[in-house]
Amino acid sequence: MVQADVREMREIITEGLRAAADVILPRTCTVCGTRLNLNERHLCLQCMAELPLTHFWERSHNPMADRLNLLIERGVDSCLTEGRLERYAFAAALFFYDGEGDYRRIPHQLKYHGNLSLGRHFGRMLGVRLKRSECFKDVDAVIPVPLHWSRRWKRGYNQAEVIAEEVACELGVFMRTDILSRRRRTRTQTKVSPEQKAANVKGAFEADKARAQEDGYRHILLVDDVFTTGSTLHNCFLALRAVLPVSVRISVATLGFVGGA
Ligand SMILES: [Zn+2]
Repeated sequence: MVQADVREMREIITEGLRAAADVILPRTCTVCGTRLNLNERHLCLQCMAELPLTHFWERSHNPMADRLNLLIERGVDSCLTEGRLERYAFAAALFFYDGEGDYRRIPHQLKYHGNLSLGRHFGRMLGVRLKRSECFKDVDAVIPVPLHWSRRWKRGYNQAEVIAEEVACELGVFMRTDILSRRRRTRTQTKVSPEQKAANVKGAFEADKARAQEDGYRHILLVDDVFTTGSTLHNCFLALRAVLPVSVRISVATLGFVGGA
């Protein structure tokens, strides 16, 4: 059998299996809950069409980058390395994320319900856009925001890593999980104020200097599931900056961004 026939046959079988599975266990849209058609994955066509994309990857200055850079500027003492100030940091998210809105179900399904396939799907969507972006196309390493080992062990996976793996794959670079680590466990942050959250994560991360420097990276991308106050990513940024000169650019990317444009 020629290659094309094999491929076609495989597609027919896959589609047949999916159709059979849909009858036994119907798949539903993560956002609105309606039953998915055979050609729909995770979201129905309407919810996918209405996904509130940020388009932040198209502009270096955007509300997410502004929020991050404000945090960096406030901690300016720690940014003064080699006598030069920190450059404006790049930041992008795939879609706007509202605490009450239905699209919150995407990060929730990944973080609390183990829907890794959903996380990979949206991680790829983010990666494709970052690759096309003038700001992110030269990224040479991707680092996910680490979980404390005990939480990772309990959950079985790190949601940031699921996204980062796909982003790294799309950008054609390695994902590094051996550079940044979380040195202490922070409390679950869903019910705390922004001020408490900032205090919680302050100094929670540390970076391995030798590993961070060994490959001569020029542009590192930090990846997390959502960007709310920015304090978690800012603290990861500071941990990396403590071991890397300001000439190494550190950017951030997430699936969701909480807050309006
Ligand atoms: Zn839907």
